[in-house]
Amino acid sequence: MNDNRNSFANIPDSSLSDRYAVFGHPINHSKSPRIHKLFAEQTGQNLAYSAQDVPADNFTAAADAFFSAGGKGLNCTVPLKELAWRYADRLSEAAEAAKAVNTLALTADGSILGENTDGTGLLNDLTANLQLNLPGTAILILGAGGACRGIVAPLLKQKPASLVIANRTPAKAHTIADDFNSLGAVDACGYDALAGRCFDLIINATAASLSDELPPLPAGLLAENGTCYDLAYANRPTAFVRWGLANGAAKSVDGLGMLVEQAAEAFYIWRGVRPATAPVIGLLDQERRETN
Ligand code: NDP
Repeated sequence: MNDNRNSFANIPDSSLSDRYAVFGHPINHSKSPRIHKLFAEQTGQNLAYSAQDVPADNFTAAADAFFSAGGKGLNCTVPLKELAWRYADRLSEAAEAAKAVNTLALTADGSILGENTDGTGLLNDLTANLQLNLPGTAILILGAGGACRGIVAPLLKQKPASLVIANRTPAKAHTIADDFNSLGAVDACGYDALAGRCFDLIINATAASLSDELPPLPAGLLAENGTCYDLAYANRPTAFVRWGLANGAAKSVDGLGMLVEQAAEAFYIWRGVRPATAPVIGLLDQERRETN
């Protein structure tokens, strides 16, 4: 938690301009400014949203400067989500569980709320956009980093038949499973323990796609009519999306939908207005197809 904002803790909300930003490092390829511009146009909200390159060692100073200059909310991405979690004055249940914050919001009493909208974003994409019915299914998460931590609780709320986390470093998967076991059964393992197992939904939450790599996945891992979902997104199909297609997935998609959905949740927290996500996902998807 950060105690460094007492000087402006009681400034009334009306004295602040409607400025928002995404902080991250690197940040130059962020789609967030475009997404929030589209949301603002669609909903008639008057706001400005910029991207700012903020390395981890400058996060607290940059966030203090942003809020003391009247900024109303921040998105925080790699490598800042844990720092944002520490920065917030108070945390939502999702942010507390995830130990990571992707959305900071200045509230009417001057305190900074920390929220994690990644899990809701993924769930909205899976259930509303992709029309998946998750109760009773077998779900596998690959990877045990910050993104995994943000999605376990909302997935458990869907009452899957089983939820397994597999990771290159199995100890990290076991730690997350232990942290969330009170919400529902979560198993953890390394990739070698996946042989002979089969899942309806496989979610890639590793950073492997960013270097066009793939965790070592055994044949037969995906059930018939199963779904593959890569949290990473790119202009071309990621290595994991291609693996899904090659292994008979009924749907094999990347995380563009989750990106737009988590942004919509942040927009709602800040503005109290819920933008329609389908036209924005459709437009961004069309634009990236045209670049190929
Ligand atoms: P972290 O750095 O916290 O975690 C990375 C994970 O990937 C670790 O479990 C790591 O394993 C694993 N990993 C990295 N490289 C490899 C590899 N070559 N083979 C196997 N495993 C590997 O990253 P995050 O959790 O923050 O992000 C994960 C992914 O999710 C990223 O691609 C990110 O872009 C995406 N994401 C997308 C969002 C969206 O809105 N669509 C939102 C949030 C994240 P180990 O523990 O052994 O090091």
